[in-house]
Amino acid sequence: MRVVARYDLFFIVSYALLIPLVGVLILWLSGRTVVLPFLLLLEALYLMLALRKPWQRRLGLRTSFPDAWREFLFSRSAYFRGLDQDGRMRFERDVRLFLVDVRISGIGGRSLSWPIRLLIAAGAAAMLHGRPDWEPPLVDGVTVYPGMSFDRNYQVKKGNIAGQAPAGGPMLLAEGSMMQGFADAEDGFNVLIHELAHFFDREARKDGLKLRLRSGTVAWAEAITLEWQRHDHGTSILSAYAAQNEAEFFAVASEMFFENPRPLHDAHPELFEILREFYQQDPRQVLEKNIRGN
Ligand SMILES: [Zn+2]
Repeated sequence: MRVVARYDLFFIVSYALLIPLVGVLILWLSGRTVVLPFLLLLEALYLMLALRKPWQRRLGLRTSFPDAWREFLFSRSAYFRGLDQDGRMRFERDVRLFLVDVRISGIGGRSLSWPIRLLIAAGAAAMLHGRPDWEPPLVDGVTVYPGMSFDRNYQVKKGNIAGQAPAGGPMLLAEGSMMQGFADAEDGFNVLIHELAHFFDREARKDGLKLRLRSGTVAWAEAITLEWQRHDHGTSILSAYAAQNEAEFFAVASEMFFENPRPLHDAHPELFEILREFYQQDPRQVLEKNIRGN
């Protein structure tokens, strides 16, 4: 993540230059200097609005990363442990930027403890580590339900839903299941990664993301659909849930990619290549370093 995304920077600079240019044109055509104060006001208002987010991010980075947070990440995130010094610094920076940007609350706006918020940010930071130009696709924030699950009517501590990724709404997570996803770092189950993958998938389809695979350049939506169709779900090491549709296939595969990448690579190398290109990283390089204790 960046303080100002490159895409945003282009538009901020373009519009900031466009306003005075239009002003000069109006002045030249009308000859009325009375428009000047309005133009200055308009430019100031625009810059205030456009730079609000980068400013908040900059402020968020001014505080040092708490030692308690670092120790917590070290004990709970195998991904964080496996990063080198530079990687950890970037990870911590992404965690802080995520927490500045993304509203994370309990149901009814209830505030949450820092370990819960930190783990959610850590999951997102791991997924974004190879894509510094991407932003977390969570404009509606994250809502955390108490207990291990909720039901179809969003009754807490009922049913068997551990998380949801509704389009046009906040990401929903059951707190207990989310925490459990980090408790066993290698079981290939992590509801946070699963639900976040759904958001990244939708964003990539909307943006028309292309992947450079060994077989050539392919549209993201086409690559994952083809892989889902040709995948032998009967012998797959992915859970049966992956067979439902291409979106679930990608979300389930992402869980394994970030938790236990070696078996996924060995059993399904083509799928692994697609995920590696999508996330622009190979978690084996991080997690296996972690196992060796480097
Ligand atoms: Zn899903």
